Amino acid sequence: MQINGYARPTTPLLAKEKNVVSLPDIESEYWFTHESVPYIMTRADHNTKDRAYTERSFIDIFKRAGYHTSWISNQESVPTFIYFMKEADKLTYVNGGKSLYIYDSWLDDDVLPPLDSALTNGKSNCRNLIVIHSIGSHWWYNAHYPKSAARWKPELTSRVITENSRQQFINSYDNTVLYSDSFWHQVRERLRHRNAIVIYLSDHGENLGEDGQYTHANDTKEVRNAACWIWCSDKYKSRYPEKYAALERNAKKKYNTAFLFHSIIDAGDISTPYIDKKYDVFK
Ligand SMILES: [Zn+2]
Repeated sequence: MQINGYARPTTPLLAKEKNVVSLPDIESEYWFTHESVPYIMTRADHNTKDRAYTERSFIDIFKRAGYHTSWISNQESVPTFIYFMKEADKLTYVNGGKSLYIYDSWLDDDVLPPLDSALTNGKSNCRNLIVIHSIGSHWWYNAHYPKSAARWKPELTSRVITENSRQQFINSYDNTVLYSDSFWHQVRERLRHRNAIVIYLSDHGENLGEDGQYTHANDTKEVRNAACWIWCSDKYKSRYPEKYAALERNAKKKYNTAFLFHSIIDAGDISTPYIDKKYDVFK
């Protein structure tokens, strides 16, 4: 992502935001969705990985603190994290029935209608935690942006990896990121006048030809580097200036993806002994 230091302008809308902080040095513990998501959702860290399978997620803590919780999924559910999806008060699937082996159009903009209903929710004063599991830049890249939004060409032409050039890989991947930038912009537009914060974290990185590696099949430094940024509204920033200042101070530090559990709870202004300060970017 451009916001994390990449040379191409793949996140131009994010780059124009004022209350946004880039966290370029997030190390993902895993490089597969099914292992990475439960790790991110729970109190698991490098030394206590089993917590991803023995404890509940941050959603449960938000519920206990009085939040209304929603999970909007634009990916398949997987046995390793379906339990956490079901912790949410409301679980919505968009593009249900699609799988990563189907190659027709599969776009994150389809998340917006259920997001709108999660935000209104019948109760205007309710505090909301909304988990958006976007499809983002997952393989097959061309399915995850509209053809008209392809800025970089030539794009991938074959699903057989070796039949494409490295540049085609990079172009199609960058097109997915550019489209994601537009999707997340629409999310922020809905939150701009609320007391709101968005934490974006990818579940792993991707290889685009570095040392001959593609997608995220092998353990490399690229697949371990998870994209991450945090944005908040003016209201949120003025309400929690100390959290925002700490975030700016901590942004360039290296964190493991374990930071998410502790940081999101603090972002929600929930006090609990489960927060480990060393993983909390808002402390
Ligand atoms: Zn994934």
